[in-house]
Amino acid sequence: MSTLFVSDLHLDAALPAAIAQFEAFLAGPARSAEALYILGDLFESWVGDDDDDPERARVCTALRALSTAGIACYLCHGNRDFLLGRGFEQRTGCTIIADPLLIDLHGERVLLTHGDALCTDDASYQRLRSTVRSPAWQRRFLRLPLATRRRLADAARAGSRAHTGMIAPQIMDASEAAVLAVLRACGVRALIHGHTHRPAIHELLIDGASARRYVLGAWYEQGSVLRRDRSGYELLSLPR
Ligand code: MN
Repeated sequence: MSTLFVSDLHLDAALPAAIAQFEAFLAGPARSAEALYILGDLFESWVGDDDDDPERARVCTALRALSTAGIACYLCHGNRDFLLGRGFEQRTGCTIIADPLLIDLHGERVLLTHGDALCTDDASYQRLRSTVRSPAWQRRFLRLPLATRRRLADAARAGSRAHTGMIAPQIMDASEAAVLAVLRACGVRALIHGHTHRPAIHELLIDGASARRYVLGAWYEQGSVLRRDRSGYELLSLPR
């Protein structure tokens, strides 16, 4: 049996091909997995569980079909969809997991995270992150009318595009120091994350021991899946 990991699907009505591909993935390869982990940014934005956007509803229906088929589906918050909550869990049967989360995979301890918290060189992003992740900010935001929340989310996305267009690409990547620190702190040799949209398997050395960092890719142009079974890991790109 395999465990599958995906992240950064950024699903949105603007990209119907990505939604269709993810639906096919959930109805196809995911059905023979033991579990599916979605490591953040499933949606391009999520302004509250009362969001009635039909494309997002389609995705929720496909996730519900997967969990009804008996496949465990776990999801961690990304920087775009950190407002996914209890209502989403009830609709889909997915379980929202902590970020980071330590799991046991075939006898190996593996750390899962979305990845944005590792981008510690981007100080202004980290300031924004601690604001919007605070329960008080989220309570205030969720009390706003749906249309207002959508407008604010669009403005935030435009602001984020302007920010990422202005800073050096290496600033937006995971900081090596942050990666080593979290692996050391948790005493693990394997880390799986997304967020940076730079799919790769990095070999690391921590205090003389080898470790690996698995980075998932985004689904803008193709699918990206990390598959783990008894024989090891495989990072796959799924053509569209
Ligand atoms: Mn992200």
